[in-house]
Amino acid sequence: MRTPLIAGNWKMNNTVAEALELVECVKTRVLGVKRTEIAVAPPFTALYAVGSILKNSNIRLSSQNVFWEDKGAFTGEISPLMLTEIGCAYAIVGHSERRQYFGETDESVNKRIKAAIACGLMPIVCIGETLAERESGKAMEVINTRLMGALRGIDQDGIKNIVIAYEPVWAIGTGRNATPQQAEEVHRHIRVLIGDLYGPAVSEQTRILYGGSMNQENAPDLLSQPDIDGGLIGGASLKVGSFTAIIMAAENASL
Ligand code: PEP
Repeated sequence: MRTPLIAGNWKMNNTVAEALELVECVKTRVLGVKRTEIAVAPPFTALYAVGSILKNSNIRLSSQNVFWEDKGAFTGEISPLMLTEIGCAYAIVGHSERRQYFGETDESVNKRIKAAIACGLMPIVCIGETLAERESGKAMEVINTRLMGALRGIDQDGIKNIVIAYEPVWAIGTGRNATPQQAEEVHRHIRVLIGDLYGPAVSEQTRILYGGSMNQENAPDLLSQPDIDGGLIGGASLKVGSFTAIIMAAENASL
């Protein structure tokens, strides 16, 4: 049985004051949540303050990225060690916005994943196809390439600490989510691929999140699919009502 994970990716939103107000409200609203793991990924400036408020709560802290070296002359980067020191449990890695605007590649994603795992930080690894790739029938091929590239050199122990997020690029921030059937088809494909690489037991334990315009209306159907183990939520994680409604949908789907 896989524990669902609902993770909020705040992207470049919220000042420290706004972040604290949002997380305080979410924290109060999810006190009774027992079957679903919750995480929030504030911008780097708010990580420490949000982490302080989340101590001893049922919400875990995530970063939106992580570098692969522990320290040194890497201006502008943040190391896994720095993130675990302030209480981060997760790091989002390979988000399509990082790939699109900041030149991230399967190779750099793979390095980030390895460094994160080595430090006890669990990567949430984002993979997904563009609209052009889907329309030309290449979605599964792209998923294979992204996944194999991300997992290169990662062994049985490593994969147990990784969460995969299927995020079709055409669904991110567009208001156009994948249908539950479209998403389930890709999630199943990812699970089979992980099974081929690591065996069925590992594949059954691996959590695969869906991300792309998930909201309180579409969450119940998406989250009730057999291979969808939670969500990576962008826009809808910035509002207390919609984020907590999605968390409740995950709670109900796991009954
Ligand atoms: C995301 O940024 O990972 C995401 C899924 O965004 P949105 O929910 O806004 O589509």
